[in-house]
Amino acid sequence: MINQSDIDAFEFYNKADLTLTEYQNKAATTAIYPASVQILYPTLGLAGEAGEVANKVKKIVRDSKLDREGIASELGDCLWYIAAICRDLNLNMGEIASDNLTKLAERKRKNTLQGNGDNR
Ligand SMILES: [Mg+2]
Repeated sequence: MINQSDIDAFEFYNKADLTLTEYQNKAATTAIYPASVQILYPTLGLAGEAGEVANKVKKIVRDSKLDREGIASELGDCLWYIAAICRDLNLNMGEIASDNLTKLAERKRKNTLQGNGDNR
């Protein structure tokens, strides 16, 4: 008989098929920090994790060795903090991703992918 543990395991091993909205909802179950530090805590965490990504990339330069799995893990940490910031601001990651792709496609259409400024 299939029980909840089996369902949880199935969902865990099918994690590659998560939508961003599904990921955000699941990430929220482990986003445990005081309400008084909402937004601030995950933003600082994101900055730290982005630094960890940069550090692993730095080691490619230093050691000529790529830690692909390590970088993937740190990117996952970044993703979790992004999900937490979105939760704290009542933003939907799926909508943000879609809006971002729309913005970049428009910049490509206008041949303004390169350059500066948010409103190109
Ligand atoms: Mg990390």
